Amino acid sequence: MTKIYPLFSGSRGNSTYLECQNTAILIDAGCSTKQIEAMLKKNELDLTKIKSILITHEHSDHIMGLRTLATRYGIKVYSSKGTIKALIEHGILNDKISYEAVSDKGFEIGDIFVKPFFTSHDSNESFGYVVTTPDQRKTAFATDMGFVSNEVRNAINGCDVLFIESNHDVGMLENGKYPYFLKRRILSNKGHLSNEACAQELPGFVKKGTTRIVLSHLSEQNNIPKLAYETSIASLLSNGMKSRLDFDIKIASKENHLGEHIII
Ligand SMILES: [Zn+2]
Ligand SMILES: [Zn+2]
Repeated sequence: MTKIYPLFSGSRGNSTYLECQNTAILIDAGCSTKQIEAMLKKNELDLTKIKSILITHEHSDHIMGLRTLATRYGIKVYSSKGTIKALIEHGILNDKISYEAVSDKGFEIGDIFVKPFFTSHDSNESFGYVVTTPDQRKTAFATDMGFVSNEVRNAINGCDVLFIESNHDVGMLENGKYPYFLKRRILSNKGHLSNEACAQELPGFVKKGTTRIVLSHLSEQNNIPKLAYETSIASLLSNGMKSRLDFDIKIASKENHLGEHIII
């Protein structure tokens, strides 16, 4: 059995906990160590079980608690060569922390297999991850990407569980308060995935076998959870797919105070 808890999700911080038989990992550590410790405790999850953290990229909403967490609990950090380089340059990683730059070929952590894939984002070398647990179930983590490339699509196809970015509503962003350069950045190919772009991809993934979808990394300013949800549902329904029969869809909360999780 595998338990997955999205602990924090969105512009303010991202971190997800995944635990199977003998292995527990975090994907990103984008809130303070204190916040992550408190959230794990609240969900009755044991931080000392976590031996590894997978980092998607070096933006602060993915690494804020990384240095303290990795140092305090002796957790090993994995990411792409480019992200590791950025983390060393920013003083987040140092000699006291165990870390490894990994390729997209894949690697093992305990009894799970991790296969990274490249995403298009304005950072050094961002990764998404597909985690295969001992029962051969696959969970994909795909956020912080300007668009869904063929590489991302191929990596995600066939995953049982999909955490996918549904960052903003294009209309809300265009008409919102963000300065022009930031709007351009978010809308670019190296920015963030909109509700519409996410929704458009989902029927293809469900056809290939995905049954659980978690809409993630929602913008606080430029999105409303209900809107993200309805945009994706409408796309799936219009492709003849039925909620709860063919798929189950959730929103990752900004902060998971209610213990929402997925069991596979
Ligand atoms: Zn980012
Ligand atoms: Zn982010």
